[in-house]
Amino acid sequence: MSVLDDNIAKAQVYMAAFAAGGVLNHIDGASVPALSGKTMDTICPVDGTVLAQVAMSGAEDVDAAVAAARAAFPGWSKTPGAERRKILIKVAEAIEARADEIAFTECMDTGQALRFMSKAAIRGAANFRFFADQAPGAEDGTVTRTPTQMNTTSRRPIGPVGVITPWNTPFMLSTWKIAPALASGCTVVHKPAEFSPMTAKKLVEIAEEAGLPKGVLNVVNGLGETAGKRLTEHPDIRAIAFVGESRTGSMIMAQGAPTLKRVHFELGGKNPVIVFDDADIDRAVDAATFMIYSLNGERCTSSSRLLVQDTIHDAFTARVAEVAKRIKVGHPLDPETVVGPLIHPVHEEKVLSYFDTARAEGATIAAGGGKIGEKGCFVAPTLFTGATNTMKIAQEEIFGPVLTAIPFRDEEEALSLANDVDYGLAAYLWTNDLNRAIRMTDHLEAGMMWVNSENIRHLPTPFGGVKASGIGRDGGDWSFDFYMETVNVSFPRAIHKVPKLGG
Ligand code: NAD
Repeated sequence: MSVLDDNIAKAQVYMAAFAAGGVLNHIDGASVPALSGKTMDTICPVDGTVLAQVAMSGAEDVDAAVAAARAAFPGWSKTPGAERRKILIKVAEAIEARADEIAFTECMDTGQALRFMSKAAIRGAANFRFFADQAPGAEDGTVTRTPTQMNTTSRRPIGPVGVITPWNTPFMLSTWKIAPALASGCTVVHKPAEFSPMTAKKLVEIAEEAGLPKGVLNVVNGLGETAGKRLTEHPDIRAIAFVGESRTGSMIMAQGAPTLKRVHFELGGKNPVIVFDDADIDRAVDAATFMIYSLNGERCTSSSRLLVQDTIHDAFTARVAEVAKRIKVGHPLDPETVVGPLIHPVHEEKVLSYFDTARAEGATIAAGGGKIGEKGCFVAPTLFTGATNTMKIAQEEIFGPVLTAIPFRDEEEALSLANDVDYGLAAYLWTNDLNRAIRMTDHLEAGMMWVNSENIRHLPTPFGGVKASGIGRDGGDWSFDFYMETVNVSFPRAIHKVPKLGG
């Protein structure tokens, strides 16, 4: 038996549990179908087989989940931070203990390769640990004194919150939101993406087995325009943490406006990797290819635009094309696989459509540019050259293993190309000139920049985008600021003179 066969057999065991019962909602500690009884399929993008039936919820299911979150809020928000920390650390330990199950499930449901997904559960556990450790001090603030007053600030959990997540690395991404929300003392209703519902259900089960009280975390499956929409409109939901497309973010902002929802948005990107001719070229080739071809290119921080100095453009892009052609595309559970199938035929069609767009726009397809095989959503790692910044392939988020290369002359042109997009999530810069790195990073329009490095996440640092890439920051204390309200109480330091009016 090959390792792949062995892994598929293992995955089938994990899938069987879902196939039998379906992917149900999880409300107030119980697994329940949608009240209407409606279901939808979740498919495996390897071959299109239906993995399970998923509850297709309506407004009434969301209302039930919100009622549970509301009922659980007084108890959870008053649980001492040290106690919340203990429970959340247990959740982290339970995630680690079931890392294989989570990784295999995620591979089957999303098509992401095991070599990356095996770390997703571990990173999810790390998120729980990191935010758990801050729970005991989350309410702390500052004391400021004037000659007459003493001001004390502190924070309180905002209330029940909605978390709406996309289908790329769904487990890890949801823990980024759910862990700090729970650590803050909020209760949560999570609406996972319809293409990848399986690990959200696992997370809530794991969390409750580890001691999270029922009703503190609830999961409602369903479509964005029905279940998601209701969650954003619900008057008892105080805030929405959303990760997904920029245009969905706009819709959520409008939907939440009548109830004055606080929103936190992590949206799309069209992130440049900028390579100057003084850079360490070998490392830059590795980093540029890693950041677009890992995780199927279905990654918000992917380096989807390659801006290369004209002096090295042809040699550099030739090397990238070589790497793209050598990358192993295959079954996500094959340990050798780098690029697995894209999430769903609908998304595959979108990615494939950009190959026609590139041809029509006059770009050159230097590698890839097509579907692989008849069955499943397999797309070849692709490089477009001969592109200009005004082309759709340079402006729109393709969200697949597809890279668009554009040459530049000097710093000024590199900056202008890099910034001339709607998005502003991440930017990667390769140069060995320190002064140039400082000049460039001073003017790049991106929430996160990495110099001579691929994306390496450090949880105490802020994660988020500018322009159409988002509102708000995750990580460090920024997460707590979103899930908590800061209040100030002022006391007199002495009997001071109160102004007398009217007499
Ligand atoms: P999407 O916006 O289509 O869907 C995301 C979620 O929103 C899903 O759960 C969906 O059901 C829900 N939704 C859709 N319409 C809704 C509505 N009207 N009201 C409420 N909820 C609604 O995004 P996707 O295609 O699932 O994910 C890919 C996108 O996510 C890409 O643009 C990617 O860049 C982005 N993303 C961003 C980050 C980041 O940190 N910036 C991270 C990962 C993914």
